[in-house]
Amino acid sequence: MKQFVCPSCGAVNRAPEGRDARQAKCGKCHQALLTGAPVEVTGAQLAAHQKSTKGAAILLDVWAPWCGPCRSMAPQFAAAAKDLEPDVRLLKLNSDNEPAAASALGVQGIPALFLIRDGQVIARTAGAMPASQIVGWARQALAKAA
Ligand code: ZN
Repeated sequence: MKQFVCPSCGAVNRAPEGRDARQAKCGKCHQALLTGAPVEVTGAQLAAHQKSTKGAAILLDVWAPWCGPCRSMAPQFAAAAKDLEPDVRLLKLNSDNEPAAASALGVQGIPALFLIRDGQVIARTAGAMPASQIVGWARQALAKAA
């Protein structure tokens, strides 16, 4: 069973069994649950995703607009979403707008990546990476934690 928070309206949705979750639509607002792209979240939305994402991991990119490496990694992170969905939901948190959430994660340098499963951070890394390395790192960390 896979369960996701709708990026459009915040409703919690179960993806239909036996079907590709990438095709699933929100039962409330009828928008796609997975869009093939990272979702920008607030601290409160991050908490909702952590609580209600089931059967899939979360990969979170903590970034800031003034951070050059963050900006250069953004298209790479977006490309990784196409590869990692529906096994992993990709989220982005702007640490300038959400300093409390970033500090709760213990963010020191950005960009910082957090892999979260069942509400727990299972791996973290920092520094800009190409899409292939982001995907490889996430898949390896998930395999190790399985
Ligand atoms: Zn919705």
